[in-house]
Amino acid sequence: MANAILIPGKEKRVYSGHPWVFRSDIARVEGDFTPGDIVSVYSSKGKFLAKAFYNPQSQISLRIMSLHDEPIDRAFIFRRVKEAVDYRRMFADLRSCRLIFAESDRLPALIVDSFGDVLVLQCLALGMERFKQDVVDALVEEVHPQGIYERSDVPVRRLEGLEQLTGVMYGTVPDRVEMVENGVHFWVDVKEGQKTGFFVDQRENRALLERYARGRSVLNMFCYTGGFSVYAMRGGAKLVHSVDSSAKAIDLTNKNIALNFPDDARHAAYAEDAFKYLDRMGDQYDLIILDPPAFAKHRDALRNALQGYRKLNVKAFEKIKPGGILFTFSCSQAVSKENFRTAVFTAAAMSGRNVRILHQLTQPADHPVNIYHPEGEYLKGLVLYVE
Ligand code: SAH
Repeated sequence: MANAILIPGKEKRVYSGHPWVFRSDIARVEGDFTPGDIVSVYSSKGKFLAKAFYNPQSQISLRIMSLHDEPIDRAFIFRRVKEAVDYRRMFADLRSCRLIFAESDRLPALIVDSFGDVLVLQCLALGMERFKQDVVDALVEEVHPQGIYERSDVPVRRLEGLEQLTGVMYGTVPDRVEMVENGVHFWVDVKEGQKTGFFVDQRENRALLERYARGRSVLNMFCYTGGFSVYAMRGGAKLVHSVDSSAKAIDLTNKNIALNFPDDARHAAYAEDAFKYLDRMGDQYDLIILDPPAFAKHRDALRNALQGYRKLNVKAFEKIKPGGILFTFSCSQAVSKENFRTAVFTAAAMSGRNVRILHQLTQPADHPVNIYHPEGEYLKGLVLYVE
């Protein structure tokens, strides 16, 4: 096994618990290795720091697995997977949640979502790629799924020198999986849907929306699978309009509404660009949800992203009925809570509306934030009362 020796001073980040070491922080690597191997990490003074995956091609060259000098093997992976599942047993419905959230569960670059009988796995780093079969075996032992499907079809894998991969990893996986979330039924398209097929991270925020929906005219902008729409219907909304630029998303939304509220005339869905729809719509809505895709995929795109959030929110503030409620979100990891608030509050001021904060929302406990890896915090939401 090879040893990675850090540049003097760079051990501090490891001591502070952060699970990443950047390429520029490594002084040298001694011994033979193949990219993706486990290496021992040492300070410049020769003190053992950690066991980590090493991928010289990636800017995040070391992904720390353990701060102890212990074997990183199948048994280790089984223990970590079990820990992740046991943690969720405290509070989650294991059939509709995120089972593994990467660095937050000390399984770097690995995501596993659970939808009914099926699990969807996404792997984003070369080192973890080697342990995929162990992860699958551990998940089978722990939660007995009917099937596990891989959705490692994400561009960031290129940074690790990895190809896009999709396919059945275990058992059988139907094209459409039925899942129940808080008593609401959803079809999840695990094979073709965006990301892993469904955004379980909005579960609690959808339940909150349900409480405000009674008698309201709801616009669910960026609806994707129609999650917020179905909850609004159940909450007793007067009408619900779902909008997404993707025709496939509109199809999924209509199917999910039909699954829960067949032939319910309160709902209509439109495949249209958000900005165009917001420009041409009237002022009939008194509950608006804005849950756009990540506007900033990288830190460099931050300025444009903030402008995007501001423009989008201005349109909603201008049109929402007096006494209306706005659920507005950002899932861009690169946009901080403070930046997002500033963008939204600037939008409110530009529209001249008086606004009160009803709730400040974030990601649920099955998407925990590892306090030593703040990068894991990404979902921000504000529920605003607009006078
Ligand atoms: N609110 C959803 C998740 C939204 S994901 C949920 O609870 O599950 C973001 C969605 O925005 C995607 O479905 C994508 O198709 C859509 N989208 C992206 N750009 C858009 C645009 N310019 N106008 C409308 N929809 C857009």
